[in-house]
Amino acid sequence: MLEDKNQAISNLEELGEFGLIDNLTKSFNNKDKSTIYGIGDDAAVLDHGEKLTVVSTDMLVEGIHFDVTYVPLKHLGYKAVVVNLSDIYAMNAQPKQVTVSIAVSSRYSVEALEEIYAGIHQACAFYNVDLVGGDTTSSLKGLVISVTAIGSVAKDEVVYRNGAQENDLICVSGDLGAAYMGLQVLEREKAVFRENSNMQPDMTGSEYVLERQLKPEARREVVKALAEMKVKPTSMIDVSDGLASELMHICKQSEVGAQIYEDKIPVDYYTYKAAEDFNFNATTAALNGGEDYELLFTISQKDFEVVESIPGIAIIGHIADKGAGITMVARGEQVIELQAQGWNAFQNKSE
Ligand code: ADP
Ligand code: MG
Repeated sequence: MLEDKNQAISNLEELGEFGLIDNLTKSFNNKDKSTIYGIGDDAAVLDHGEKLTVVSTDMLVEGIHFDVTYVPLKHLGYKAVVVNLSDIYAMNAQPKQVTVSIAVSSRYSVEALEEIYAGIHQACAFYNVDLVGGDTTSSLKGLVISVTAIGSVAKDEVVYRNGAQENDLICVSGDLGAAYMGLQVLEREKAVFRENSNMQPDMTGSEYVLERQLKPEARREVVKALAEMKVKPTSMIDVSDGLASELMHICKQSEVGAQIYEDKIPVDYYTYKAAEDFNFNATTAALNGGEDYELLFTISQKDFEVVESIPGIAIIGHIADKGAGITMVARGEQVIELQAQGWNAFQNKSE
């Protein structure tokens, strides 16, 4: 037996997602010459000749990442692909192929799975990627979808999380916090429906935040605009777990600190409105909500004017010395140390 009966039993929740990944993978060293970068970024980077191949996998689990009582299956298929493509763009690469693996219980009909695949098809068509394989198996309970995305990037164009330098500017695309508020609306309406199934859901005014939650897009136009303007970010990550958590990844891997400004964080009018309805702080949604799938990146100061001219990109702060920590200047001018409260894979945030 491999098991050592005297070993202490550790709790998954205590370790957290990132702690667990570190723990499980620390004894693995890359040996193959073509493995340029393994675990620790948005995607792995492989050298296959002229260009680099980037590979990323994400798994969506029923009850943890989605709730089929309110997520339309077509949207689920679409989102499962998009969240993976987002990781490929975060390497400054172009996605080319995906594989899709599913585990399904007998509760799902063939028609339900076809709906999911209609969404997968739509995402593949929109982002110009080919579905080239996968695996299908049964599960005792619930649905699991795992997507692997494969992309390509020129050798001198790849962007990691670890390249941020002191005085670089911190930029983010689009707006943040909406997907989290969308989730709150869905949870509220689900609770109302449970109380009284005759109630019709009230989604008016919530269209934007719902769309951000249910049908996110990957920011390929940002990667394209930067390439056209000949700006190569010094570091980049996609915002899947919330701005605070992603900024910490960049700072940790780049061995730097950062300062951002609350009033520069892009938050949509409808996100503010939804936050107000829930008596929730919109900045907290942006910092800790997650699932925005925007791109967070740093640029050298020399690229400031060019990047400032690209619509839909906000410059929210600058990279500082490691000793300065990771801070946010709040609206009232006070300086707050940022805490990572991203998604924890072992706690269902939507509960
Ligand atoms: P992202 O949020 O960008 O999808 P993750 O936080 O899921 O990234 O993963 C961080 C890094 O850890 C990635 O390089 C990923 O491939 C790797 N990773 C995650 N889970 C595992 C695992 N079970 N075994 C090996 N590597 C893993
Ligand atoms: Mg990522």
